Amino acid sequence: MNDVAVLSRKADFPGMVTGDGKPWHYLDTAATAQKPQAVIDAMSNALGRDYATVHRGVYSRSAQMTQGYEAARERVAAFMGARSPNEVIFLRGATEGINLVAHSWGIANLKPGDRIMLSQLEHHSNIVPWQMVAQKTGAEVDVCPLTEDHRIDLDAMERMLTPAHKIVALAHVSNVLGSILAAKRAAKLAHAVGAKFLLDGCQAAPRMRLDMTELDCDFYVWSGHKLYGPTGVGVLWAREEILNAMPPWQGGGAMIDRVTFEETTYAPAPQRFEAGTPMITEVIALHAAVDYVESVGGMESHFAHESALAAKLRDELRGINSIRLFGPEKSAGIVSFAMEGVHPHDLGTILDEENVAIRAGHHCAQPLMAHLGVPATARASFGLYSDEDDIAALLRGIERTTRIFG
Ligand code: PMP
Repeated sequence: MNDVAVLSRKADFPGMVTGDGKPWHYLDTAATAQKPQAVIDAMSNALGRDYATVHRGVYSRSAQMTQGYEAARERVAAFMGARSPNEVIFLRGATEGINLVAHSWGIANLKPGDRIMLSQLEHHSNIVPWQMVAQKTGAEVDVCPLTEDHRIDLDAMERMLTPAHKIVALAHVSNVLGSILAAKRAAKLAHAVGAKFLLDGCQAAPRMRLDMTELDCDFYVWSGHKLYGPTGVGVLWAREEILNAMPPWQGGGAMIDRVTFEETTYAPAPQRFEAGTPMITEVIALHAAVDYVESVGGMESHFAHESALAAKLRDELRGINSIRLFGPEKSAGIVSFAMEGVHPHDLGTILDEENVAIRAGHHCAQPLMAHLGVPATARASFGLYSDEDDIAALLRGIERTTRIFG
């Protein structure tokens, strides 16, 4: 376990201390990651020294900014193993990405009698857009159950899937349990019935090496702020031919080919889906974030680091009688649990007094909470900066909570 501590990157993150200079044990990276200085600097330069609009200006600063914006697209495409930067759409985040697919692809392709396959552990942002589109199109939603150890049950999904299923949309990694989807098998099952396959990669992109060709999905979404980048920027990846067959979702500047009052024709992807002035500074800072995560060891080592911490925490929590653990033994850096007789909010409040930040709540996954039979869980999630001191601080806080609640 020693390598876990060695790998921690705390020093790169100015946010990892409290206001009075004490270590801050941040265990809420699944909600949003802290930012390394490299990202803060990139954002600051983009907003100051380098700031100008993109895609429009004839002056050199704007041309440079456009180059920077498109270089970020190329960087993200390479990071994801995409075939072309044209497959990368910048938008506000994963939520917007799923809404775009649901409202553009979904409205154009779904009709009464069609079915949408989700799973019991999805985040609300991979449930609600599909419900909205189901209401509009007459399609219906099916829910794939979970295995006993709370992974998406692909054997059950195989039995449930029919040619009426037009899309399968699943979390690559659960934001509550850290469960990792066997994505390649899920893709095969979806494609075998002719369905498109969307992966919600919000929790996977910051923790796992991505390769769009290997994964063989049709849509992949993630949010920049969970990958050590700023809020307000995310990525939708899709194959170019699928994107170019999809109608635009939002209309406005930058997404058109030609506009008259009689008719408007649209630019191809990615511009077709980037209406209006984009999140210029956020995209530039996202480039810095991708550079950062790859420069400090690569995704395989980040995955190993966070999974080792999760395994260690699970081992420790298993030794405490009052604690009930959720999720599979092998998880991607996220651990959910409940403490008998203590509401997760109370635990979270006591831990805060110890400078330990965990998440307590339903984690935007109420159907999963209903399945687990709890209104909320306590969740500790790890990042590049996490180490065994954070686990020790959490355990001290749990011990104190046990004493307080008797
Ligand atoms: N899906 C999953 C699995 C998530 O963890 C989150 C964020 N908690 C989202 C979707 C939504 O991401 P965002 O709020 O950044 O759009």
